[in-house]
Amino acid sequence: MARDRKKIVVFGSIVHDLISYTSRFPRPGESIRGKSFQQGAGGKGANQAVAAALLGAQVSMIGKVGDDIFADFNIASMGKAGVETSAVERMPGSTTGTATITVSEEAGGENSIVVTLGANMEMSPEAAEKAESMIASAAILLCQAEIPDAATKKALEIGSKHGVTTFLNPAPGDPNLDKSMLTFVDIICTNENEAEFITGIAAPTPVEAEKAARAMLERGPRVAIITLGPRGCLLAERTAADGIIVSFLPGERVKAVDTTGAGDCFCGTLVALLSSGISLKEAAARATKIASLSVMKRGTQSSYSSRVELIAAGR
Ligand code: ADP
Repeated sequence: MARDRKKIVVFGSIVHDLISYTSRFPRPGESIRGKSFQQGAGGKGANQAVAAALLGAQVSMIGKVGDDIFADFNIASMGKAGVETSAVERMPGSTTGTATITVSEEAGGENSIVVTLGANMEMSPEAAEKAESMIASAAILLCQAEIPDAATKKALEIGSKHGVTTFLNPAPGDPNLDKSMLTFVDIICTNENEAEFITGIAAPTPVEAEKAARAMLERGPRVAIITLGPRGCLLAERTAADGIIVSFLPGERVKAVDTTGAGDCFCGTLVALLSSGISLKEAAARATKIASLSVMKRGTQSSYSSRVELIAAGR
């Protein structure tokens, strides 16, 4: 299949969020009444696909859902955002991934989450091989770490073999991540916790983040980005002419109401901007600003802005 110079392929997770807002967390064995309930399409793969498609990028999703009502909801949600979902497979007898979330008022909006990955755990190296022609047709392959590592590694290996730009967001952070997959990665983007899991270097400030980013570059990628919550992000790029160039891109000061999915917004936005031909530094600076906007709204995919909304907001 010929390479489409703008196409993004996401190989990753789809998880349905079930969120109960409560006055407090229930104790073990206790049943309490929730105050309100919200459900939403989610999963790191799907979130990033949606964030990119909302900005007008051409995005295809490769993933697995169960044969339940959550499957239809999540496929429809991606479709509504403009994500092409023909490679999202419904697995007979499996459940769609779910995240059962309790948000406690007493705990200041803190949450406790049970993620049951269901059909996402059936993502396998064979699923990546089956999708080889789709991966090979992409300009950028976008992966996370919410499906089995072996599947992600195979997808990255296939992308790399075909000269596709490979982008890994190793989230959610798992200290046991198979780090050998980094040899197939062009661009790695982590938050500070994930950077520490990969490098052993705590990265809460830009100075320490630079050390962690340089350590990540030694493992294979040519670009390492560490997002730093409200402070923005640090970008380290290995270039042939000038060695490693490091830039700190400050965040926007905003009133944050819900930071869930901010990292996914950042990654999806960054990849969408790169696919449109914008330079890495400019794309990272804009992704930082756009991710900051997402924390001003409740929810995950529902907090992401479309291109039309961003233009209206003068971004
Ligand atoms: P993750 O959600 O993966 O933990 P971060 O918390 O680092 O990732 O957030 C990713 C990006 O979202 C940041 O680089 C920043 O642009 C934006 N962001 C996150 N939290 C805030 C905040 N409180 N205020 C402004 N921007 C934020």
